[in-house]
Amino acid sequence: MNEVIQRFAELVLDGGLLSRGQAIALAEAGRADFEDLLYGSNRIRQRFFGDRIRICSIVPGRLGGCSQDCAFCAQSVRYDTAVDKTPKVFSDEEILSAAAAAKAGGVPHLGIVYSGKAVSEEELERLIRLIGRIREQTGLGVCVSLGILSEGQMRRLAAAGAERYNHNLETSERHFGQIVTTHAYADRVRTIEAALAAGLGVCAGGLFGVGETEADRIDMALAFRRLGADTVPMNFLHPIAGTPLGQMKTLEPREILRIIALYRFLLPTVNLKVAGGRVLNLRDLQSWIFAAGCTSILSGNYLTTAGRAVEEDMRMLRDLGLEPA
Ligand code: SF4
Repeated sequence: MNEVIQRFAELVLDGGLLSRGQAIALAEAGRADFEDLLYGSNRIRQRFFGDRIRICSIVPGRLGGCSQDCAFCAQSVRYDTAVDKTPKVFSDEEILSAAAAAKAGGVPHLGIVYSGKAVSEEELERLIRLIGRIREQTGLGVCVSLGILSEGQMRRLAAAGAERYNHNLETSERHFGQIVTTHAYADRVRTIEAALAAGLGVCAGGLFGVGETEADRIDMALAFRRLGADTVPMNFLHPIAGTPLGQMKTLEPREILRIIALYRFLLPTVNLKVAGGRVLNLRDLQSWIFAAGCTSILSGNYLTTAGRAVEEDMRMLRDLGLEPA
């Protein structure tokens, strides 16, 4: 076993946290000894999470028509993509029916995701009422992703029964300007802090394969640790024609597994959710994500790209001897 990987695995298994310097050394060791890295990440996952895997699905509340310029996103009006430039707002009935389908498929958590920088007061009020109806009718945990909100707005969502707020950092502070210029990294950090202050759980993740360096990946993980995110969704670029990253080469499956393992070492008790880009990028290696340290998956379709049917994911978990949490 690689001596560096073994030493850091023991440190984490004993409740310690890796420093930035140790993370850099681990990333290098993991490139040379990939199987050893996965052996360590799997042990860490088992130590802190057992065999439980959390599953969630998402439904759009509003799709497309976004004024922002996130370089990967099909929903920005600035890029010529297949998504309509006029935003489509989903009705209460459409969202309730997605909630009922999630419940029927055995998925315990539903995320409602809005395109755009923020939502109007009117939209927020509608959602607050809707969260109550979803909770009442299905008992599902409801998470929301509505862009940049104030602490007061977050408090109203928490009072309505929302469990968790999703707001991604996307990449490191250093690399952020290469990906988004219409709002600042600091706006995202403030939103995450507002959600935490309001008592919501925080699901804050990022996107890999967008030209970031190893140091950017490590610094983003350390930002999640500092902020106190309880769930970190990991998305892997699915290049969308018409966006500035439309021609980007996708990451290799083993590289993705190495990144997940690095995050498991760095964030040992945080729920790591493999989300966008899983099916396209990992292909036959999808089931390896759990050995790499993943403890949660986004199942069903993504917002603008196809995912995998919930039944197929449930079967994968059963085949691996894992249990939906
Ligand atoms: S990621 Fe969100 S904020 Fe950025 S362009 Fe897409 S919908 Fe807009």
